Amino acid sequence: MTVTRFAPSPTGYIHVGNLRTALFNYMIARKAGGTFILRLDDTDPERSKQEYADAIREDLEWLGLTWDRMERQSERLERYEQAAQELRDKGRFYECFETPTELDLKRKKQLNMGKPPVYDRAALELSEEEKARLRAERGNGHWRFKLRQERIEWTDGILGDLSIDAASVSDPVLIRGDGQFLYTLASVCDDIDFGVTHVVRGSDHVTNTATQIQIIEALGGAVPSFAHHSLLTGPQGEALSKRLGTLSLRDLRAQGVEPMALLSLMARLGSSQPVELCSSLDELIEGFDLSNFGAAPTKFDVDDLFPLTAKYLHSLPLEAVAGDVAALGVPADKAEAFWNVVRENITVKSDMAAWWELFCNGVEPLVDDEDREFVAQALAMLPEPPYTAESWSRWAAEVKDATGRKGKALFLPLRKAVTGRTQGPEMADVMPLLQKKPALG
Ligand code: GLU
Repeated sequence: MTVTRFAPSPTGYIHVGNLRTALFNYMIARKAGGTFILRLDDTDPERSKQEYADAIREDLEWLGLTWDRMERQSERLERYEQAAQELRDKGRFYECFETPTELDLKRKKQLNMGKPPVYDRAALELSEEEKARLRAERGNGHWRFKLRQERIEWTDGILGDLSIDAASVSDPVLIRGDGQFLYTLASVCDDIDFGVTHVVRGSDHVTNTATQIQIIEALGGAVPSFAHHSLLTGPQGEALSKRLGTLSLRDLRAQGVEPMALLSLMARLGSSQPVELCSSLDELIEGFDLSNFGAAPTKFDVDDLFPLTAKYLHSLPLEAVAGDVAALGVPADKAEAFWNVVRENITVKSDMAAWWELFCNGVEPLVDDEDREFVAQALAMLPEPPYTAESWSRWAAEVKDATGRKGKALFLPLRKAVTGRTQGPEMADVMPLLQKKPALG
């Protein structure tokens, strides 16, 4: 049974980088008919906020990424304490009392000597008396997991065979001095208890994975398959980390990005398969294969989402947008005609509003100086609405006869006068929707 999880910390809104992780784990579970868990990594009570937990759920629901089970780490502290005790009993957990400044100094010294800044395990030498004294002076210490100094190896679902020398990694801190359990321990306990079989996450977690494999083994759990996807960069290859705040899923939603556009892009970006608009999650899941993804950083350009959004909207039948169309005030008997005219001329749904405004109240005409007289003459020949599908050709023919203009010189100034734009839908379709006769300002 395949079990995956998406494990965001509710300390902020989730962004396109998180989405990649969520989507991969979701698709693996769904493709295998398995279970997808939403896990909130909220062991940090100061930074975790209910508001963000709610937002994460809302954002995933908006995308249709449904989960089968939800868990919160803050509700499992007893389990983490039990695991900590197990590690103590097994001699794999030790208390340390260095302050952050002392640790910093150690690191600087090591770096000056050209050595990797790995924790020197000085606390392992402390006697019980020394520990008691330090505890009295400094309060409770923090707890580190004692790594076995051997190579940690696994076959990564994306990066291939990996081997990390545990001696090059500091013994990870799993409990802070104030008693707070850190993510590494909590995550391992959860992955064991929930039977997680596959973990896909960003390549910034590769070292974590090495240490987590040893912790899982120490606790007698089954090691899941790990895969680390590349991190996203901006279009020029620049780091995206600082801009991710503006690439939150809610911002994209507010900008009108459609879920299928976003999912279609994120499911293929960084893989050997071309990005193409898919019409459903099922279609995306069908074509998903983790082995198509590479290790190279993945370029993400937010602008790519808009052509995909436009393409998605073009493909929709009226039923799919009937609510949005009605909300603009479009009467039911005009809805079909309205949608057929605008759907290929919008990028995001909210662009529909400007078209409806144009049809109801007209628009500031776009008239070149040299066409002013021509347009005035043409408009004088146009009767009052209602117009029909034939109104356009009839009007254009009359104007042609009266002015001698033809082709583009005839049609373009008329289009610009009526719609205020140089391009757009067939004028024969536009005219029946016009409720007011266009007028020169
Ligand atoms: N809360 C962790 C993060 O957001 C989860 C990492 C993991 O998937 O284990 O980075």
